[in-house]
Amino acid sequence: CGIVGVTGNKNSVSILINGLKKLEYRGYDSAGIYVNDQQGHDYLVKRPGRISNLEEALTPEVQGTAGIGHTRWATHGEPNEVNAHPQYSNDNRFYLVHNGVIENHQQLRDHYLEDVQFKSQTDTEVIVQLVDKFVTKYNLDTKSALLKTLRLISPDSSYAFVLMDREQPDTLFVAKNKSPLLVGLADGYNMVGSDATSMLKQTNRFMEIDDHELVIVKPDAVKIEDLDGNEKTRDTFTVDMDP
Ligand code: GLU
Repeated sequence: CGIVGVTGNKNSVSILINGLKKLEYRGYDSAGIYVNDQQGHDYLVKRPGRISNLEEALTPEVQGTAGIGHTRWATHGEPNEVNAHPQYSNDNRFYLVHNGVIENHQQLRDHYLEDVQFKSQTDTEVIVQLVDKFVTKYNLDTKSALLKTLRLISPDSSYAFVLMDREQPDTLFVAKNKSPLLVGLADGYNMVGSDATSMLKQTNRFMEIDDHELVIVKPDAVKIEDLDGNEKTRDTFTVDMDP
């Protein structure tokens, strides 16, 4: 299973598909992308099976300047289109890709989301519905809602997350715990991916993400905070390898 994200490049769809293909070695049963063109259009396409199935489902109008992609290895819910990622909130505002397992997803569901109708059987949907609830019902901004959600996830859980908010479509909200995820810094745009190879065609300059951080990735900036909101600095490093 693998994750890739990009912001600030009008070829986001091909960048995501190329990245997902590089992550095929990690194993998967389904794949999907969400892209937003920042002009009021966004697209969610998911397919069970091979990445070529996903590619065949992409019509020419599916384009964006930012997006997220995922290859899934099902842990909660059978491999099918509904359970494939990105998972999204019921108001179609938030889109989330996730690698890992949310161990306390049932408790979170029972405690906060009793009134929510779930579409999928995944543990992941709980997280995106929770962020949505904190934004729409508790009036938190997206970053604060994600921070609050991250603090509620049990420490035995594992995740690499990339969240998109339709109302801030140039921003990737990123966090990890025990699952791999890396920022890629490209020329005029930025990326995230499960490993360097998923981004090497675009860039060889990277930034590590530590567990329990929140990273805000925009086309021209990357901001890292700990879960208490303290800003952190991070060196970049280069990987010299053929894409
Ligand atoms: N637990 C999530 C699911 O079953 C993510 C699985 C993965 O890492 O691909 O949908």
